Amino acid sequence: KEVKGVRNPGSEPTLGMDPYADTLRRLREAFSTGRTRPAEFRAAQLKGLRRFLQENKQLLQEVLAQDLHKSVFDADVSEFIICQNEVDLALQKLHTWMKEEYVAKSLVLSLDSAFIRKERLGLVLIIAPWNYPVHLTLVPLVGALAAGNCMVLKRSELSKGTEKVLAEVLPRYLDQSCFAVVLGGPQETGQLLEHKFDHIFFTGSPRVGRIVTAAAAKHLTPVTLELGGKNPCYVDDDCDPQTVANRVAFFRHFNSGQTCVAPDYVLCSPDTQERLLPALQSAITRFYGDDPQSSPSLGRIISDKHFQRFRGLLGCGRVAIGGQSTTDDSERYIAPTVLVDVQETEPVMQEEIFGPILPIMNVRSLDEAIDFINHGEKPLALYAFSNSKQVVTQMLDRTSSGIFRGNQGFAHMSLPSLPLGGVGNSGMGRYHGKFSFDTFSHHRASLLSPSGLEKLHEFRYPPYTNLRQQL
Ligand code: NAD
Repeated sequence: KEVKGVRNPGSEPTLGMDPYADTLRRLREAFSTGRTRPAEFRAAQLKGLRRFLQENKQLLQEVLAQDLHKSVFDADVSEFIICQNEVDLALQKLHTWMKEEYVAKSLVLSLDSAFIRKERLGLVLIIAPWNYPVHLTLVPLVGALAAGNCMVLKRSELSKGTEKVLAEVLPRYLDQSCFAVVLGGPQETGQLLEHKFDHIFFTGSPRVGRIVTAAAAKHLTPVTLELGGKNPCYVDDDCDPQTVANRVAFFRHFNSGQTCVAPDYVLCSPDTQERLLPALQSAITRFYGDDPQSSPSLGRIISDKHFQRFRGLLGCGRVAIGGQSTTDDSERYIAPTVLVDVQETEPVMQEEIFGPILPIMNVRSLDEAIDFINHGEKPLALYAFSNSKQVVTQMLDRTSSGIFRGNQGFAHMSLPSLPLGGVGNSGMGRYHGKFSFDTFSHHRASLLSPSGLEKLHEFRYPPYTNLRQQL
């Protein structure tokens, strides 16, 4: 069925026909009219997005609770506030960001105007995951709207409630000639990716990131890849175990561990592990009570498939907290779990966990931890906990990751002055704040010369006499 501005290919006979051609043609036509170029148009779209967030907050809270058992607090801090801040910043800075940037000139070009023009890209595709379904869809959208593009949003099929609201309600707040939502999963995304876009912004797994990049390569379409991976969390012997446990447990179990930047595993010495385990148990009980299943603050696993994968991972190492006996498939509930004695070769240390399981691996020293981290793929996030500033700085200096934080968990996305993006296997490109605007703009190098003053240019024309060569 076609809701205004929305293509729902799942409900159409797709055999032998292209379900997206008309929508994409319409969006390209709208772009070529120049409609999205003026700052006023872009500001109106951003204000529409802001109204959408304000007027539908309760509805979104309800569907987030259905999809992921998200609490109101969780939804506020990790979905709405981040989106609202990004919209407000874009509205406040739009004119500055759009302005031509005048650059330094050489003597030879001193009479020219040299500047960078921020051009609209055209038709962009945003592909979003399910874990922060509002934030990870709308924050890229802010950048794409501010930069004056037309766009297609491909929501994740797994967060069904949120997908429906974003598909049916959001378009009412935006200019529908420039914006469309596409529903569907891998098959629909594959069909969509056969088309040419001017930029693809993908958030999801490295596996699908490769599929998206291969499809984009056929059209030489630039891609931004916001991917995931295993995020190490080093805990030094010189630390207060309870403080570290509070912070690690909070950030690991926020959204039931389904967070791309959550600490994926802990690296520490056997002694620190012994001090950390009771502290982690105490933090988990304090946050979620003696029966975490009845806690309104703990999320649920998004799908049966993900739930079964986590159950499989619980067989790795030895369960120190939580584990197999505290799962409930009828609710897709898994208790906050800590595994010890895990081996590097076990699945829990080979794949991104993305759930409420925290393995602890033992290392004997900071050097060994750094070697271990550098041996793997470059992570999206890296954490180091220590009372020693030197230890934290060494970890920062001698490793690489998309984001880094010393002595705390992730908060980078609440600060639009910091870019969010991976490196190597965890992604390419960056966004948030002005970084989003730049990601969705072409920086056109422009030189404007005076039409006259030809005499000044004579010296460079052939024939090159000896005298000129000496010059
Ligand atoms: P995913 O890669 O399975 O899916 C992401 C999107 O791609 C969805 O819209 C999905 O419909 C689509 N898709 C899935 N399979 C496809 C295929 N074969 N062909 C084309 N499209 C396909 O990821 P997910 O499960 O939605 O999200 C979890 C992953 O995303 C984790 O790896 C996590 O670390 C990562 N992630 C990264 C960030 C970040 O900011 N870097 C944020 C959130 C999640």
